[in-house]
Amino acid sequence: MESTSKPSVTTNVQTSTSNQVETLMKRAQLSLEDHEWDRAYDFFEQVLSIEPENPRAYIGKLCTEVKVSSEEGLAECAYQITELNSYKRAMQFADERYRKTLEKYALTPEERRAAYSEEKEQQYKITLDRLELVKRRQDIKECKTLVDELEQLGDYNDSQLILREITNPIVGDDGLLKCALCGRGSQQPNRTMCWNCGIEFRRE
Ligand SMILES: [Zn+2]
Repeated sequence: MESTSKPSVTTNVQTSTSNQVETLMKRAQLSLEDHEWDRAYDFFEQVLSIEPENPRAYIGKLCTEVKVSSEEGLAECAYQITELNSYKRAMQFADERYRKTLEKYALTPEERRAAYSEEKEQQYKITLDRLELVKRRQDIKECKTLVDELEQLGDYNDSQLILREITNPIVGDDGLLKCALCGRGSQQPNRTMCWNCGIEFRRE
């Protein structure tokens, strides 16, 4: 009997503590939004007196120090945040996923641009591979994904050119359309999408 009652007491204590932390964090966030930096700072301090290893509370304190109203704002701030103690503490206690996010906030604008274009380049290569696959095997399941990816790439490299080529149907001598991507013909001229692979036609 005693062994079952003990854990439930612990659970209750934990629940009330985490409720308290949650409430304090919420009040802190609201104060941040209102640019009440000192007030927000105090709330984050109260959280840390309950949970000294709460990385989000350290990041909250950091926000009050550099005066940004949300943690996403850290990415745009001009301070070298990696030098600040709250940032170091947050990095120390963050799990791997949160640490990655925090690392992104610390990038300089140039580094951020470089990371962005590297990401785009990788996505572009994946998309080109998919284009080859679709053309070789005429894999209709991949057709829509390919169009979506090209749209996401925006103006990167020749993405828009490829997109125009594959979504512009070929008009045969009989006036019927043939899908430039999956190669299937016999489509009525008024069709707005390919009956075979489902991509939307964009006529030029
Ligand atoms: Zn098609």
